[in-house]
Amino acid sequence: MYAENWSQIVEQVKRECGFSCQNCDRLEKDGIALSVHHKDRNKRNDSRANLICLCWSCHTASHRHNSEFVLEQIRKCVKRKRDLKGESVLKLSTELSAEIEC
Ligand SMILES: [Zn+2]
Ligand SMILES: [Zn+2]
Repeated sequence: MYAENWSQIVEQVKRECGFSCQNCDRLEKDGIALSVHHKDRNKRNDSRANLICLCWSCHTASHRHNSEFVLEQIRKCVKRKRDLKGESVLKLSTELSAEIEC
């Protein structure tokens, strides 16, 4: 499970990487939703060296070997779209990004 201060860790990692994706260099201020990824894919390893900042698409791609993970994100996306109806895709992707925990 995640440490109780996971949200603080996420904020710190984002700050240290300049609020940009460390794979494609796109910036959060340009509307890219960022999340923090465990390089070794071990959620319990919250050491700083194991954490990198990725945008939603790079993060999903980094787990593409894990079809269950990708399917779960798509399911969330579809469900959320249905729930939000008129709301923007950016808001949707930002919320989804915050939910990606891996
Ligand atoms: Zn990226
Ligand atoms: Zn990840």
